[in-house]
Amino acid sequence: MFQGTTRSERAYEAAQKVMPGGVNSPVRAFHAVEGPPVFIAEGRGSHLIDIDGNEYIDYCLSWGPLILGHAHPDVVRAITETAARGTSFGAPTLLETELAERVCQLMPSVEVVRMVNSGTEATMSALRVARAYTRRDRVVKFIGCYHGHGDSFLVKAGSGVATLGLPDSPGVPEGVTANTIALPYNDLDAVRDTFAKVGEGIAAVIVEPVPGNMGLVLPRAGFLEGLREITREYGALLIFDEVMTGFRVARGGAQERFGIDPDLTTFGKVIGGGLPVGAFGGKRSIMELVAPAGPVYQAGTLSGNPLAMAAGLATLSHLNEDVYRRFEEMSKRLVDGIVEAARETGIPVYAAASGSMYGFYFSEEPVVDYESAKRADGRRFAKYHRLMLERGVYLPPAQLEARFLSTAHSDADLDRTLEAHRNALKRL
Ligand code: PLP
Repeated sequence: MFQGTTRSERAYEAAQKVMPGGVNSPVRAFHAVEGPPVFIAEGRGSHLIDIDGNEYIDYCLSWGPLILGHAHPDVVRAITETAARGTSFGAPTLLETELAERVCQLMPSVEVVRMVNSGTEATMSALRVARAYTRRDRVVKFIGCYHGHGDSFLVKAGSGVATLGLPDSPGVPEGVTANTIALPYNDLDAVRDTFAKVGEGIAAVIVEPVPGNMGLVLPRAGFLEGLREITREYGALLIFDEVMTGFRVARGGAQERFGIDPDLTTFGKVIGGGLPVGAFGGKRSIMELVAPAGPVYQAGTLSGNPLAMAAGLATLSHLNEDVYRRFEEMSKRLVDGIVEAARETGIPVYAAASGSMYGFYFSEEPVVDYESAKRADGRRFAKYHRLMLERGVYLPPAQLEARFLSTAHSDADLDRTLEAHRNALKRL
């Protein structure tokens, strides 16, 4: 039984007095949905418990990292046993090499990897290396793909071909984003045209291979392959931002699922098992530019810290083929159930899944890029989100965000979720 959110409301008021907007990351403030944010007291497996005592099935999972669910005993054990021996040394440890070896083994395109503390750091650093390697400045990104909050990536989602970047946020100098070219996702012609015009100046194309920051959009057949061909032709690097898709859409990430060999890959989320970790890696010839092997500066006081390495290793050790088979089944079941219930109620939805990620939109058309994602009915989602919360399901509080599954999600969780969904649709 939903018991209301009185305590959360009070907590939110107190938080707003001492933190910008009451949160430490904007989307947590629930601005895109109805009602104030709920404050979390505890996570257990696939469930969250808020400070009012409401229990939810969680499809946010801290925005992706918790592929084994909350407080998995092996992850908790790895963290506590490691912490008892010291939390950080600023000196090499065996755990760092072990996690680096594991990543290289799971993703053969990655021969050398550097650990950092967030996905944002990973993409910023990968871009620096790509620019140094190619001795070029421009970067192509796709509208609606998020690569963290580094200045170069905060570019207004402009339409049209080769929209030269304007900053998306005050405080970002135009001089920085002028080198960022934002193109529509899934539009290979736009990429070809841009390269035909300015290809000699492009250091890299960075892409979320399965974008999860505009809901969940699937790459059209040939799109990722096309990016690989075009970048090779012009001597630009292809950066797969697998912060979200890494170890999620397949054990070897999107590069395994789609059979692409990127030059550089960025990681975050799952690789840290719920602790703050990111990483970037790729071909040895490129990564050897990174200091101290080479001249490209990149560093971090807490980078590769033992707690995060231990949590990451414990998490990755559970990910076998069976886990991914089950993820495919679960996400398909959810997507099918969501679409079927929508058909029954006459509310148009479009849904898609890839491995342990899925998404759906209140949309009459398939969503293939940011423009079509934006046309989905946000107001309807805002209401739906609250109805789902009241029915014990915690979804990421924005329509244009992917939803995540964990190994802790059970068939009973899925049944309850679909029942809540059916029920919520009827009340829209
Ligand atoms: N890249 C992608 C694809 C992401 O989804 C995110 C975060 O959601 C980032 C980069 C930034 O990662 P972080 O929030 O750890 O800085």
